[in-house]
Amino acid sequence: MDRNPLDLAGIDDLLSDEEKAIRDSTRAFLDKRVEPHVADWFERGEVDDIRGLARELGALGLLGMHLEGYGCAGLSSVDYGLACLELEATDSGIRSLVSVQGSLAMFAIHRWGSEEHKQEWLPRMAAGEAIGCFGLTEPDHGSDPGSMRTRARRDGDDWVLDGAKMWITNGSIADVAVVWAQTDEGIRGFVVPTDTPGFSAPLIKHKMSLRASVTSELVLDGVRLPAEAVFPEVRGLKGPLSCLTEARYGIVWGSLGAARSSLETARRYAVERHQFGRPLAGFQLTQQKLADMALELVKGQLLALHLGRRKDAGTITPTQVSLGKLNNIRESLEICRTARTILGANGISLEYPVIRHMNNLESVLTYEGTVEMHTLVVGEALTGVSAFR
Ligand code: FAD
Repeated sequence: MDRNPLDLAGIDDLLSDEEKAIRDSTRAFLDKRVEPHVADWFERGEVDDIRGLARELGALGLLGMHLEGYGCAGLSSVDYGLACLELEATDSGIRSLVSVQGSLAMFAIHRWGSEEHKQEWLPRMAAGEAIGCFGLTEPDHGSDPGSMRTRARRDGDDWVLDGAKMWITNGSIADVAVVWAQTDEGIRGFVVPTDTPGFSAPLIKHKMSLRASVTSELVLDGVRLPAEAVFPEVRGLKGPLSCLTEARYGIVWGSLGAARSSLETARRYAVERHQFGRPLAGFQLTQQKLADMALELVKGQLLALHLGRRKDAGTITPTQVSLGKLNNIRESLEICRTARTILGANGISLEYPVIRHMNNLESVLTYEGTVEMHTLVVGEALTGVSAFR
């Protein structure tokens, strides 16, 4: 074989030495620090020393890595994408920790916060000393966040927040929550220190997906905040949607990591396991599965890289990010499911990463805009007709 079987198309040749170095250092860290433990964390539904892990991710420059200033690494969108791919090749839950911190909580403060918000939170968040979460979804309002019920009302100079958020990544371990709420002037974003009286973040249990990730409810019961807790300028859904576009971009890359890990596991397994006197890899049906998986992985990588280059050039649009998320999560999940069939009964065991990736991607299919929402975004772009309501 003249090529790395995982890079048949030679996509590596499209990356700079710096980009490869960031990818490789991320992989080396994960191989040592996370891979040996992650299946156990998934099985127990608990990441050991998650705060210590966040600090190590921060020391590597992976938190808010594509943001400028305030202790952030200021790297490119392609660098960030490559890191997301490696993180998710280890586990979608670990990639979610990094994405929510950098692309949702830190990006929101970086893009929409006051100078004081930035100074107070971003350096500590970049270092992993402070953890952030992003509260948009509610128990009764997910795909349609414009109908949210969480409300912020003025009381003198203060704001008082009441309501509930649901399915919030990092919620129970967060030091700061970016919370979106209805006000008399439309939806606004608030920077909420999680030790504020009236704020609590109970853990959501019984998940069968993203088990190596903290997912929580946020309860806001008369949370009193000073006037300056609000993002000063942004009003309406534009605020949260701008953050979601950032996080979705990370998923365009990240989901391919779960797919690559599953393909590689299935490829090795097919070569090593024998049935009917020859390796599984010797059956044409198996080869077809592997070839189709490899094709979709290559196509997804090219799309991710193209979108990353556009993002770095400042020409990417939210519709393009939807295209990327829609394709790459859908195909990555299909790759994981096919890989699972190649492993037969072993495919359902946590001894191999495939079922873990597959179950994780069920969450990734749904969060940051469901696959149906992104289909409607693409449909609207194609036809000019909105089919959302
Ligand atoms: P619903 O909106 O109720 O949708 C249910 C189904 O109906 C979906 O298939 C949907 O596509 C479909 N549907 C809805 N409307 C339409 C329509 N108009 N046309 C066609 N189909 C439609 N949220 C946060 O704010 N912060 C987080 O950190 C966060 N982390 C998460 C972590 C995990 C593990 C998970 C699972 C979710 C997380 N979410 C988070 C929430 C996530 O973004 C929502 O679950 C998602 O937006 C979908 O909302 P919903 O679950 O309420 O589904």
